[in-house]
Amino acid sequence: MVLDAVTRRQDALVAAVREGLLGPEAPVVALLDVQGIRETARQLHAAFAGPSPVLHTFAVKAGALVPVLELLAAEGVGCEVASAGELTLARAAGVPATRTVFDSPAKTVGELRDALESGVAVNADNPQELARLDALVAERAAAGRDPGAPVGLRINPQVGTGSIGAMSTATATSKFGVALRDKGVEQWVVDNALARPWLTRLHTHTGSQGVPLELMAESVRVVFELAERINREAGRTQIDTLDIGGGLPVNFAGDETEPSFDAYARLLRSTVPALFDGRYTLVTEFGRSLLAKQGFIAALVEYTKSAGGRRIAITHAGAHVATRTAFAPESWPLRVGAFDAQGVPKSAPEVVQDVAGPCCFAGDLMARERSLPALEPGDVVALWDTGAYYFSTPFQYNSLPRPAVHGFWRDSEGRIRFSLVRPAQQIEEILADSGAAQCGALTSGTAPAR
Ligand SMILES: *Cc1c(COP(=O)(O)O)cnc(C)c1O
Repeated sequence: MVLDAVTRRQDALVAAVREGLLGPEAPVVALLDVQGIRETARQLHAAFAGPSPVLHTFAVKAGALVPVLELLAAEGVGCEVASAGELTLARAAGVPATRTVFDSPAKTVGELRDALESGVAVNADNPQELARLDALVAERAAAGRDPGAPVGLRINPQVGTGSIGAMSTATATSKFGVALRDKGVEQWVVDNALARPWLTRLHTHTGSQGVPLELMAESVRVVFELAERINREAGRTQIDTLDIGGGLPVNFAGDETEPSFDAYARLLRSTVPALFDGRYTLVTEFGRSLLAKQGFIAALVEYTKSAGGRRIAITHAGAHVATRTAFAPESWPLRVGAFDAQGVPKSAPEVVQDVAGPCCFAGDLMARERSLPALEPGDVVALWDTGAYYFSTPFQYNSLPRPAVHGFWRDSEGRIRFSLVRPAQQIEEILADSGAAQCGALTSGTAPAR
């Protein structure tokens, strides 16, 4: 399977160069493996199959591209959204409200009203948000209407931090959810759930990359026990759905998918056996693990140089498409592939070199002191495992355009075919996004009176 994916990716790179998707007019491009995405979604379904109904959703922030959401929806995966924008994308992809979950620590009253009105499940983050929902539910009740959508409460089980602080959401002091271990909070949750028969879900998400599986499973166990307690005290199954979040880490060091959905599901089955007994509906919200290994960035090497004994290749892939790697390189290292101008792997002897991007700041590096075949102008570099949170989340630095994204697959004759997922940003769009229509806004009529 891995071999097949690696061959497919290599063939796609050669085809992309041959067809001009990567070249002087498009010096950086992003490619997505359609078959790889389909297979990954199927692995997810298989891992969680059992008596419990499961709604798998995709965390839209990991790959905010409507055709990707459509593809995942075709594979039975809904959407987890965290803003009005992400909800709009999910709707544009045809994902039904019943397969959409709305999380965000900063939902506005308008967003909450829209979610209830349209039947999108909401996970409340905190007591103030719950109070807003009370008012909205009362408003609807006064009009003879039910709450409109399932409502959950996000729990922070405060299980601890993973290896990347910025990605850990279940720490003692996390900004997310209700801090369950704080004094009196568990009782508050139970009392407040019992007072709201329409609160039927509990939600937890322990973090995103760098969180050990055991910690994720421990969060799920804590939330499961909490649901059991609420249901016991309610004398009925009030909490009927457990949303266990996403956060399965991705192996950026090699081609193997590790850990697998299967490994995580097995750990859950042993840590919280009753989770799968069919009494609860499960919701998952995986993002990175569904897409990271299914996409990559390819870019031309524009120049190569040396400074103070340091060898540097200046490429067209930088912070605008790989923001986290540029700003937090220790946490987000990427594997780099070196290819010639035709997209064929380079066999030149390896030398230690830096792979830099086009942005005008010194930290715009994709790799430091990396051993790679000596790169030359016109060569191609690939940044592997960038299908999630990279090119789909561009950073408009230096007015660099967002690159095109193409999906690729093999046709029945074994040829690589491409389909445009997102066009490259045009210079007219950059102008419009930069206030060009407001020319004069700061110069006409704003001079101070003398
Ligand atoms: C970001 C996020 C996810 C997805 O995390 P991944 O690490 O991409 O799987 C899921 N749920 C919530 C609430 C999130 O914020």
